Amino acid sequence: MATLPAIGYTCFCMRFDLITIFPEFFGGPLEHGIVRRARESGLVEVHVQDLREFTKDRHRTVDDRPFGGGEGMVLKPAPLFEAVESLVGHGAGDRWKPGGEDAKTAIVLMSAAGKLFRQETARRYAQLERVIFICGRYEGVDERVAEYLATDEISIGDFVLSGGELPAMLVVDAVTRLLPGALGNLASSQNESFSGVAQAESESLSGMGSTNHQQRATTRDLLDFPHYTRPAEYRGWAVPEILIGGNHAEVAKWRRAAALEKTRRNRPDLLPKE
Ligand code: SAH
Repeated sequence: MATLPAIGYTCFCMRFDLITIFPEFFGGPLEHGIVRRARESGLVEVHVQDLREFTKDRHRTVDDRPFGGGEGMVLKPAPLFEAVESLVGHGAGDRWKPGGEDAKTAIVLMSAAGKLFRQETARRYAQLERVIFICGRYEGVDERVAEYLATDEISIGDFVLSGGELPAMLVVDAVTRLLPGALGNLASSQNESFSGVAQAESESLSGMGSTNHQQRATTRDLLDFPHYTRPAEYRGWAVPEILIGGNHAEVAKWRRAAALEKTRRNRPDLLPKE
């Protein structure tokens, strides 16, 4: 296991709680790579909470039929409210006000109907002390959870999955790697897709849009530049010459232009409109 640098980083431990009806689900993802290392080094603590522990009937029922009729089942509010309250140690009957005593805790309901999760959301969560995830299943979760319990309702994209576990794990991963010390090399999380670095230079290369547009583009982000490793030629496909030359300024210029080109090709929506 890589050791963390002892100095230069703020000492920091973040806690994630995952409320789920499938506690076993997280075994694999929590046991690999950066997330595993961050747990082992005490940078993050992850607690998986079985929702069924907060049921009171013999069948440990967490769901019920929807009012108004229709397909499927809905997760009941009581076990979810009680699970969160037991985790935070006090009542959580109303939406937590930003800036209140629990400003350092987010209660995140995973929902296909939530606000889109982005890198900037990950950066915001990385400033917190604790994030509690509520993983939905079936047709979803009683709306009072979104209204009165969760601080955030978050979607990971415009598609519907069968449960909130994968989405929650995805958020845990994205946030963990932003914590100081989680990546061996701090620079690697500052200089990647959606990190907003070197935007100004890229804009000047793009030669498009007004100053206003350019400023807007700096708050959106470019994709990462393409990476290459040995061999310099593989099946006749050569690595761009400039990367091999060792001229750092030229390499930086090439990377900015290549990042912009790739953004144009794969994510034109990130660029300012002409
Ligand atoms: N009826 C809901 C979908 C329920 S899917 C709808 O149409 O919006 C069951 C659960 O999977 C949800 O409660 C949520 O926790 C999770 N889920 C599904 N898609 C998701 C997404 N794109 N982002 C985050 N969570 C999602």
